Amino acid sequence: MSLIQQIFTDLLQLLFPRNCNACGTALFYGEKTICIKCLHDLPFTDFHLYNDHPAAKLFWGRIRVHQVTALLYFKKGNRVQQLIHQLKYKGQTDVGFLLGKRIGENIIRSGQKPDLIIPIPLHPKKERSRGYNQSQSIAEGIACILQIPIHTKLLTRKINTATQTKKSRFNRFENIKDAFELHKTQDLQHKHILLVDDILTTGATFEACGKLLLDNGLNKLSIATLAYAE
Ligand SMILES: [Zn+2]
Repeated sequence: MSLIQQIFTDLLQLLFPRNCNACGTALFYGEKTICIKCLHDLPFTDFHLYNDHPAAKLFWGRIRVHQVTALLYFKKGNRVQQLIHQLKYKGQTDVGFLLGKRIGENIIRSGQKPDLIIPIPLHPKKERSRGYNQSQSIAEGIACILQIPIHTKLLTRKINTATQTKKSRFNRFENIKDAFELHKTQDLQHKHILLVDDILTTGATFEACGKLLLDNGLNKLSIATLAYAE
C-alpha cells in the first residue's frame, strides 16, 4: 500500500472508526473485522485434531457423522457470544467469512475434503427480515479455502420453528424434525456433504437435516460450526 493510500485509510478510520467485533475497541491499521489480540486470545477448541471430542460425542447414537468441526468454545458473556451476536443480528457477515476460512484451514489440516457445503437454511420469511443467512457467510469462508461449491437449493426450511432456547434436547428435536425439506436434484450416494451452522448446542437442527440427507442415500455427512456451547 502506498503512503497516500495508507493516509487515506487512516483518515477513513478516524472519520468512520471500525471496531473489533469481539471486544469493541477501535481497529488499528491492517486489522479487519476482529483485532489481532482477540484473534490470538479466542478460545479455539482444536477439535479438528482428534475424533472423540465432546462435539462429536453429541451425535453418537443419533446420526452417523464422519467429522464434526467446531472452531470456538461458546460461553455466556465471552467474546465468542459477542461475535455471534454481531454476525447474526448486526449484519457483520465478515465475521462469518473470516472465521469460516479458519474452519476451512482446520478441515484441510485434518485431511478431509467434502464435495459440497450446505449452510443450514433459515425459513424464507426469517431470511428476508434478516437480509441474509449467517450460516451462508461461514459457508462462503470455508468454500473459499476448500474450493468446493455451496448448495442452497437442496435443503430448505418449510416451518419457521419457535425459539429453541428453553426446550430440552428431545423437545428440540421433536420441534424441528419436520422443519426441513429435501429437494433431491442429484444423486447423494457418492457424496460427502458438509452441513454448516453458526452454533452447536443440543445438535437437534443438525440431527434433523443430517437425518433427512442420510435417509435419502447420502454417503458421508460432516458438520462444521463456528462455536460449540458446552
Ligand atoms: Zn478485539
